[in-house]
Amino acid sequence: MSFLTLSNIQKSFGPVQVVKDFNMTIDKGEFVSFLGPSGCGKTTILRMIAGFEAPSGGSITIGGKSQTNLKPNQRNIGMVFQAYALFPNMNVADNVAFGLKVAGKPAAEIEARVKEMLGLIKLDHLAERYPYQMSGGQQQRVALARALAPKPQVLLLDEPLSALDAKIRVSLREEIRMIQQQLGITTVFVTHDQEEALSISDRIVVMNAGRADQIGTPFEIYNKPATRFVASFVGTLNLIEAKVVDTAANRISIGDQGITLREPLGAVKAGDTVSLALRPEAGSIAEGAKGDTALTGTVIASNFLGSVIRTRMKVGDAVISFDMFNGPGLVPPAVGETVTLRFTASDLLIIRE
Ligand code: ATP
Repeated sequence: MSFLTLSNIQKSFGPVQVVKDFNMTIDKGEFVSFLGPSGCGKTTILRMIAGFEAPSGGSITIGGKSQTNLKPNQRNIGMVFQAYALFPNMNVADNVAFGLKVAGKPAAEIEARVKEMLGLIKLDHLAERYPYQMSGGQQQRVALARALAPKPQVLLLDEPLSALDAKIRVSLREEIRMIQQQLGITTVFVTHDQEEALSISDRIVVMNAGRADQIGTPFEIYNKPATRFVASFVGTLNLIEAKVVDTAANRISIGDQGITLREPLGAVKAGDTVSLALRPEAGSIAEGAKGDTALTGTVIASNFLGSVIRTRMKVGDAVISFDMFNGPGLVPPAVGETVTLRFTASDLLIIRE
């Protein structure tokens, strides 16, 4: 059921178009992340939903109601920013109560709602504290409670975790996702961190220079990247240039080694170059472990990353990284050694755009 609709949204600042004809419908209760590098327009889209920026073209509706002529405070939206934008002169309870007071809710209702919100973020015991007496992670939980207290229709999160250290970032993102699901609130989350987007979203919009290159579930985005940009931005990936050998047989070569692809090659001819994507975790060098195809190369480097050892090998002119999972009995190959990486032909994706 479509709830938040963005139709033909455009935004220009002077002569520069930073959002180019963006279209999307978001379902009620869905968690959607906008993911992309700095400057791709993701924050601008969020700010247009909030009403802080007016679109240069297009329309936004929430629950069927046009938002175009509504000021930010007339939209039923809660927002959390990157910097903990709490009121420094108010304690936690007063920060959470703020939106309810502005809305003129009765004191008893405010008190009950604040209590409920502090329970939700598990900070009941810090109701009297001031922002300067709390950690960054605690302050962001209060910011979340403050945004949710007036029961907004949509929650907007603008890189709310970027200022926190790595461990807190992971635990808070899990908490945000749990709270979002518990309340069933439609949420739009902006991030440039692909792991964050993959881990908490129902769907991800991968933004590239003002456009959505792909909109899909984390699984689709990771396993079936639609463009070269998505493939290289999300996760670690080998982009390999291969030569078409025989179109009818789906046959290509990497260096001088032939491979038959699963996916039809499409409109190319023998001698053309095609780009193939292969995730490092797709293959295995264990004898006979996987697959219906293989590449043999010379190891040029090995990096110990903890759970995996990422090894790079040279196959013709291509450098291909693959992961070997750490565990008992693992003997990483030495630099200079010849190894054979086995995988299934469907692990090799053709990147067409
Ligand atoms: P970041 O992660 O760095 O915030 P972003 O993808 O969220 O990046 P936006 O903040 O949406 O990017 O900005 C998109 C482009 O629009 C950038 O080139 C930015 O410089 C420009 N821009 C944003 N706001 C304004 C403004 N008020 N006036 C002029 N240009 C702006």
